[in-house]
Amino acid sequence: MAQWNHETDSCSFGTIDIGRVVDMEDGAFPAAMLYPDATPEAIKALSHRFGPMHINPESLELYLSFHAYVIKTEHHTILVDACVGNGKDRPGREMWTNRSGPFLDNLARQGVTPEDIDFVMCTHLHADHVGWNTKQVNGEWVPTFANAQYLFAEREYKFWEECQAKSDDPIMYGSHADSVLPVMKSGQAKLIDGAHEIATGLNTEPAYGHTPGNMVLHVSEAAKTHAVICGDVMHHPVQLAHPEWSTCFCEDAQKSRATRTGLLDRLTAATRSFSRRIFNHRAMGLSRGTAQAFG
Ligand SMILES: [Zn+2]
Repeated sequence: MAQWNHETDSCSFGTIDIGRVVDMEDGAFPAAMLYPDATPEAIKALSHRFGPMHINPESLELYLSFHAYVIKTEHHTILVDACVGNGKDRPGREMWTNRSGPFLDNLARQGVTPEDIDFVMCTHLHADHVGWNTKQVNGEWVPTFANAQYLFAEREYKFWEECQAKSDDPIMYGSHADSVLPVMKSGQAKLIDGAHEIATGLNTEPAYGHTPGNMVLHVSEAAKTHAVICGDVMHHPVQLAHPEWSTCFCEDAQKSRATRTGLLDRLTAATRSFSRRIFNHRAMGLSRGTAQAFG
């Protein structure tokens, strides 16, 4: 069974390496804001279970990590989600505004340069999943990953395109304009079906609810080991204990709940066991059996 290596922030199975690339950590969010269905009593109980890495035991705030995953196969290097980004103007989101974070240094720590990336796959197009899609060069936002094909779900892209058409103001705190449209303009974007084979062993699956075109990515190797990059299907470990809790950021809370419970049921069935010590690291690996989910 593949185990997450906490020192290298990565894991390997067969010929596949998966590394976590942090953009921001330790963003503290009030539980009642993030999860409208959560009670203080439930969060307090979970704080004992998951510990101070995930829940502040005093304030009961939840810590969120904003990170990407880089997957190296024999033939390709794929970046999943592009986090918040640097130098972006994000009115209404102070902690995302004009950042100068170490994302590219953290990518280098996984042995990957921006030029190495063959595919950038965005699970969805929220502002904290597209930021590093672009960087500013001579006042223009251009693709950060010059050799990559960027994969966006067509259903997701169309939804936000329609939202922008109905709005006089930039949507998604400006991220659609500075982190999605420049990629479309460059010709590096490909709009895909929710169920899409990127390459052998790399398959997207529709996971609607959090957003209308949200996807997860399955990474499998010789049918023995299987990882799921689940994006915002789960935001925090508390959703393993309470998969019925959707966040305030979910476009369709009911559909998000059904997607999450369905995915977890399948992973649990695949592994035939459910460990209580699943989220022992911010990579959110479900270290049980042969299936793992990374959020
Ligand atoms: Zn999201």
